[in-house]
Amino acid sequence: MASGTLFIVATPIGNLQDITLRAIETLKAVDAIFCEDTRVTAKLLAHLGVTKPLFAYHQHSSDAVVAQIASTLREGMQVALVSDAGTPGINDPGGALIARLLAAEPGLAVVPIPGPNAAVTTLSVSGFPADRFQYWGFIPHKKGRQTLFRELALCEDTVVLYESKHRILKTLGEMQAAFAAAGTPDRPVVLGRELTKQFETLYRGTVEQVATALQNDEVLGEFVLIVGPKGWR
Ligand code: SAM
Repeated sequence: MASGTLFIVATPIGNLQDITLRAIETLKAVDAIFCEDTRVTAKLLAHLGVTKPLFAYHQHSSDAVVAQIASTLREGMQVALVSDAGTPGINDPGGALIARLLAAEPGLAVVPIPGPNAAVTTLSVSGFPADRFQYWGFIPHKKGRQTLFRELALCEDTVVLYESKHRILKTLGEMQAAFAAAGTPDRPVVLGRELTKQFETLYRGTVEQVATALQNDEVLGEFVLIVGPKGWR
C-alpha cells in the first residue's frame, strides 16, 4: 500500500488572492507538484514564493507518467495535484489521474484541499435554486448538441454549463431556438464571464437578452452559463 499522500489542491480561477492558507501550506510542504501546464502553475508558485519540482500531467499522459507518480507515492513522497485553475478533477484531467492512481494503488490516501471552482462560484451569485442542481460541464461540439438542448428545455432543475468564447454565441443561439420550440422562450439564464478577474461580468436575462448584451461587448474570456429551472421567474 502507498504510504505517500496525494493532495488535490484547488487554486484560483482568476484572482490570485483566492487561495486558501491551507493550499499555500500544502504546496510549500509537498515533495512534488503535478499540474496541467507547468508555465501556468510556475506563475502561481512564483506569486506564492514556492519553489518545488513541477511535473506536467495532462489527459494524454502515458501510463509511464502515471506509473512515475504512483512510484513517487509508493516511496512515501507527498505529492500535490493542481490544475490550471479551480478544483482539480472538475472537468479537467485531474479526475482521470486520480482514477488511474487509485486503480494502481487502491489504498492511496487522497486528501482534498478545497477552494475555488468556476461552476459553484457562478451558481453562488445566480439567484437560481441551488439546493438541487445539475452540472453538465461542456456542451459537445458536434454530435448530440440538439438532443442535449431539447433535454435542457425540459429540465426542471438549475443547470450549470461551461462554454468557450469560440462557441458561446452559437450555443446561446441554439439554446434560444430549443427554448422557443418548447414554449419557454423566456427561460432565464445567468452568464458569468471572467469571474474574479478584471473584466468580470454577469449577464442576466432571457437567452436572447444575454446574447444581445454579450454581442454588444467583446466576446472574450471564459464563461459559465447557468440555466434557471423550467418555470422559474
Ligand atoms: N477545474 C476547473 C474548475 O474547478 O472550475 C474547471 C476547468 S475547465 C477545463 C475550464 C472552464 O471553466 C472554462 O472553459 C470556463 O468555462 C470555466 N472557467 C474557469 N475559470 C473561469 C472564470 N474565471 N470565469 C468564468 N469561467 C471560468
